[in-house]
Amino acid sequence: MRILITGGAGFLGSHLCDRLIAQEHDVLCLDNFFTGRKKNIEHLLDHPHFELIRHDVIDPFKFEVDRIYNLACPASPPHYQYNPIKTTKTSVMGAINCLGLAKRVKARIFQASTSEVYGDPTVHPQPESYWGNVNPIGYRSCYDEGKRCAETLFFDYHRENGVDIRVGRIFNTYGPRMNPDDGRVVSNFIVQSLRGEDITVYGDGSQTRSFCYVDDLIEGFLRMMEQEKTIGPVNIGNPGEFTMLELAELVLKKVGGKSKIVHQDLPTDDPRQRQPDISLAKKYLEWQPAVRLEQGIEKTIDYFRKECAG
Ligand code: NAD
Ligand code: UDP
Repeated sequence: MRILITGGAGFLGSHLCDRLIAQEHDVLCLDNFFTGRKKNIEHLLDHPHFELIRHDVIDPFKFEVDRIYNLACPASPPHYQYNPIKTTKTSVMGAINCLGLAKRVKARIFQASTSEVYGDPTVHPQPESYWGNVNPIGYRSCYDEGKRCAETLFFDYHRENGVDIRVGRIFNTYGPRMNPDDGRVVSNFIVQSLRGEDITVYGDGSQTRSFCYVDDLIEGFLRMMEQEKTIGPVNIGNPGEFTMLELAELVLKKVGGKSKIVHQDLPTDDPRQRQPDISLAKKYLEWQPAVRLEQGIEKTIDYFRKECAG
């Protein structure tokens, strides 16, 4: 198949490019390099089945493709809050442009949605049937509401125009090719401890997240796209839940060294807890994550050791 991946030079997108190229598909990687890096896809540039297109999803585009994975959007809080209006435009206009293309060329289209659609959840763990608890006017809203509106557009294009959609709600994912400077917690803690700097835990560190290793997540994407049982939304994530203090201690133990844990202010509207209910993924995708946090963190540390040394 011919497959378009928007945001293909980012952390998740580049792993998806690798998997689809390995399956011998033709891959079109579209990216504006806001948070993505050429380095992530450098090894694919000479591959006969790979094409790189520098383009912004908020401007229209047209390609003959069979599948579209829409991943274009900065994902780390510092990056999506850097230019919040652009973040909303990327989610909303990007979705409209991708859906318009899917409609025209009859491509199946996958949306990389997020656990942020649940906001600061009052239901725990979060099933897909939960409508969420989202602040519409806060610092995280550009991302949360942008992604919620994108989901709305996906379902309206499906109902109104018969577009063949798949919506996956991704929970916190980590692994090699995370941008060391993007401010997400796993990369921050590992890079800080490798450099012997203080590990910055925001607030008292009792807030929780559930972390999925990238290889598991990409397998979930592929299964979601190629199954016929549901259009979603389906949660894709690892239900293993950890406090940020537990994560900091795990990273410290694995890296060794002299870093100390220090506490900094908790960002506004930081969700207190987050854990996916993955019953639907198990049922429809016959998928569940296989990599435990400890194993995944070791692989990620190995990656950053090389990254920080080079
Ligand atoms: P990332 O920042 O590494 O990748 C996003 C990619 O999109 C980058 O390559 C960036 O340059 C590109 N991009 C941003 N704005 C664009 C625009 N206007 N036009 C074209 N390209 C643009 O983040 P990621 O972790 O790889 O996330 C990929 C997708 O998955 C995002 O949509 C994100 O919201 C979603 N997601 C990720 C996680 C996670 O934990 N990694 C969790 C939930 C949802
Ligand atoms: N966090 C932290 N220290 C950091 C970066 C993040 O304690 O250096 C916390 C953050 O406050 C949040 C959690 O880790 O509670 C996950 O943050 P991240 O930015 O990775 O993702 P998100 O908040 O979008 O889930």
